[in-house]
Formats: sequence, structure tokens, C-alpha cells
Amino acid sequence: MKCLFCGYEDSKVLDSRDTNNSQSIRRRRECLNCGKRFTTYETIETVPVLIIKSDHSRQPFDNAKLKKSIMIACDKRPVSLEMINELTDEIEKEVFNAKEQEIYSSTIGQMVLKKLKRLDDLACIRYAIVFKKFESIEDLETFITSIKSL
Ligand SMILES: [Zn+2]
Repeated sequence: MKCLFCGYEDSKVLDSRDTNNSQSIRRRRECLNCGKRFTTYETIETVPVLIIKSDHSRQPFDNAKLKKSIMIACDKRPVSLEMINELTDEIEKEVFNAKEQEIYSSTIGQMVLKKLKRLDDLACIRYAIVFKKFESIEDLETFITSIKSL
């Protein structure tokens, strides 16, 4: 951060403190060249990831909503809440690490199916029934055959 007064590139930090909401840090600096003082604010940049729905509308990724949909698929199946939390967190991590700021809901659906398959076959099929909107029993059969290779 260049000095406001002389443009020198180096300064020393005299004091750092959180602002009231703790979302940013306020630093009091002194220019190493001219000795004048100025204040900088450092904030964390939060970039929301948008989910592209099948109708092309967008909405922010919502961990709670994803978890709820997985919980419904796992209802009365031998999958613990801890496993569901873990699965949801893994997907969230993948979504935010993907470097894309927009991601298709179908891509997330596939991630869920793949991971859910490892936990419980039937929960995986249930999730697919809600998320893939099969047109017929044949579609469902094709899917069931295909998940064997997931
Ligand atoms: Zn200066």
C-alpha cells in the first residue's frame, strides 16, 4: 500500500484492531519515507457462488438447503446426521474450490449422487427421483443400472 502523501511503498503498522463488526481490520500505518500517518482497512472478500437452476434462474449456494434435501433422501435409512453433515460440507468445499462463480444445479446433483451412493444405495436412488425428475419407470431403471458404475 503506497503512502498517500509521498507514494513511498513501505510503511510500518503502528496499531491493528478489529472494527466493531469484526468483518475488517483497521491498521494505523506510518510511512517509512515521510513519516506521515494514514489508516488502511483490510476486509475478507466474500464471493457468493451462484447455482444455475434448470430454468436458468440463479440463487446463492445454500448449505442448509442442500443438507435438508439429503436428509429427506436419507430418512429412515442407516445414514447418521454426522455422515450427512460431512457429505454436505465436502460438497460445499468442492463448490467453493471450483473457481467458477456459477455452477449448474445438475453438477451439484451429480456430486451428491456419487457421494450418497457410497453411503447408501437406496438413499441415492431416492435423491435421484427428486432431483432428476424421471419421466418413466424405464428412465428410472436406466438410472439404477447406471449408478452401479458411479
Ligand atoms: Zn510518505
